[in-house]
Amino acid sequence: MSEQSHLFPTYARFPITLVKGKGSRLWDNTGKQYLDFMSGLAVTNLGHAPDAVKDALVSQLDELWHVGNLFHIPNQEKLAKLLTDNSCADRVFLCNSGAEANEAAIKLARRYHSKVLGTGKYEIITFDMSFHGRTLATLTATGQDKVKDGFYPLPEGFVYAPFNDADALKGFITDKTCAIMLEMVQGEGGVNPASEPFVQEVVRLCKEHDLLLIVDEIQTGMGRTGKLFAYEHYGIEPDIFTLAKGIASGFPMGAMLGKEKLAAAFTPGAHATTFGGTPIATATAVATIELMLEQKLAQRAEQVGNKLIAELNARLAGNPLLKQVRGKGLLIGVELTVPAAEVIPALHEAGLLVIPAGPNVVRLLPNLLVTEEELEEGISLMNQVLTEKAKAAAGTNA
Ligand SMILES: *Cc1c(COP(=O)(O)O)cnc(C)c1O
Repeated sequence: MSEQSHLFPTYARFPITLVKGKGSRLWDNTGKQYLDFMSGLAVTNLGHAPDAVKDALVSQLDELWHVGNLFHIPNQEKLAKLLTDNSCADRVFLCNSGAEANEAAIKLARRYHSKVLGTGKYEIITFDMSFHGRTLATLTATGQDKVKDGFYPLPEGFVYAPFNDADALKGFITDKTCAIMLEMVQGEGGVNPASEPFVQEVVRLCKEHDLLLIVDEIQTGMGRTGKLFAYEHYGIEPDIFTLAKGIASGFPMGAMLGKEKLAAAFTPGAHATTFGGTPIATATAVATIELMLEQKLAQRAEQVGNKLIAELNARLAGNPLLKQVRGKGLLIGVELTVPAAEVIPALHEAGLLVIPAGPNVVRLLPNLLVTEEELEEGISLMNQVLTEKAKAAAGTNA
């Protein structure tokens, strides 16, 4: 771009301007076509501009856009019923982003302990390499120093335990601990699934010490990992979980869900947001979830994801740049022996849009309706680019 940008330079952007999208395809402003294996960061889980969601959005646009939360909004009840009928939660708070959903979860955990249990406990245990958002409380909850740089002083009451270390965890519980908050697969942290024994220990300690279990499903939720919500893989029931990214096919929306006992802590006036659950946002989310359930897309993500991981392992076997392919469902990380930044531009050039997750991981997030042909095309492009890169690296070493 030749002209000076008037935006704050908060994003290191790829040199691509995408102007159109349909299904798994995106086109840039030169007309070049791409296969989309990032889904706007696990957002467009049904592909770009899915017809059923578009129809619901357009018909709501004709009816009513916004009234505010001082009035009843039927779409909100419909969405909350869909979410609670299909999860372990009983209550829903609607908001506009992931950070805002986690902010609500943190506030609810503290308020439950202060107003309902009367313990005054406020400390929340989170984990190294976690990611929970960019507001002051959620960046403090995040177990990565890079998001905190320059923003001190931060809110009190967060401690960080090592992820997937069941033995270490109980040492972090104090007489102030009110909750444990974690991702079932750390997405931003490099696509690292929580281990079964670790999750069972988290649940056991929560029971033993009367702690709330908060699961951040903002990236893993909405069918992405092969279940509607990733906690289902572990047979557990969090007290609170949060959603955003994939909930409304690209319309901004977040949700914080919880068990019935928590309703006593979020009484009128306790928490609010102007735009949370507008008629338009909720119509879009309802259509997204209905399609997901109708077409059993979580199950599809599990089958297709297992196949993608197996195929990538088979085809990339022996490539010296490959360290490991891992993930759950269609949240997949390809860990390399070189920085992801060294191969991602070549993948984009070849027509495959992917993003990194941590320094050495290429993250693959195809939409849940991705076809067999598109998967094959993506695997071939990965193989082609990684083979070329490995050859070039061998050439420079020789
Ligand atoms: C993206 C993400 C967030 C933050 O969501 P925003 O909508 O960007 O505020 C929080 N937690 C996880 C696990 C995420 O992936």
